[in-house]
Amino acid sequence: MNIGIFSLSCCEGCSVEFLNMEEEILDILNHFGIENFRLVKEVNKLPVDVAFVEGVPANENEVAKLLEIRRNSEILVALGSCSATGGVLAPGAKPVGHYVDVDHCLYGCPFSRDELKEFLTSIIIDKAFGKKEYSVCMECSLLENGCLLEEGYLCMGPITVAGCNALCPSNGKPCLGCRGSYEDANLKSHAKILLDKGFSKDEIIDAFSLFSHRDLREVIEWLKRR
Ligand code: SF4
Ligand code: SF4
Ligand code: SF4
Repeated sequence: MNIGIFSLSCCEGCSVEFLNMEEEILDILNHFGIENFRLVKEVNKLPVDVAFVEGVPANENEVAKLLEIRRNSEILVALGSCSATGGVLAPGAKPVGHYVDVDHCLYGCPFSRDELKEFLTSIIIDKAFGKKEYSVCMECSLLENGCLLEEGYLCMGPITVAGCNALCPSNGKPCLGCRGSYEDANLKSHAKILLDKGFSKDEIIDAFSLFSHRDLREVIEWLKRR
């Protein structure tokens, strides 16, 4: 099998993350050839079996490039939160899934290395790979972390989709919500909890606006009316 890593408009941090982990996943990459990766290869080819796409299309040329990638790949993976949800580029940017069918999303800014390994392994052993439909709090709980929200920090873990092993709280920092929200996340309820804890509307709106979340506009409007 072969893979390609493609960049649309973004900081290219996910490509760099991919590059940085080459040694870590060398054994996994033995199963894949890299056909297309502008940062490391001079000659880049299509088609590929698995296309990882970071960033979002910012103009017609990039939309055309994305469509070409889609036509020439078996599996298309949105790599990182920009691509998967609009990420830090929200609310103006539309995620890759707005333009083409996306088979899988690897959330996070940048994506989680462990999750990428899990995904590549799932392809090798032909196992299903799906989105985790629970919160970062669940991972905190499994790791027996103390809760930073209880300690007075504005943490977005309760609405944020798991998969990073609660990276930030495990290192003493509140979750910023970089992976976006999971399917049943109740954003309004979390905003209400934050208000009750004494955070200002502006602080809460800033926290919700940092990364793209489902129902984001609705929650911000609701907060403004209160
Ligand atoms: S998800 Fe984050 S690291 Fe990846 S390209 Fe977007 S801004 Fe950069
Ligand atoms: S620290 Fe944040 S992510 Fe962890 S349990 Fe508390 S609210 Fe949830
Ligand atoms: S804890 Fe939150 S901000 Fe940190 S990596 Fe995970 S989802 Fe992103």
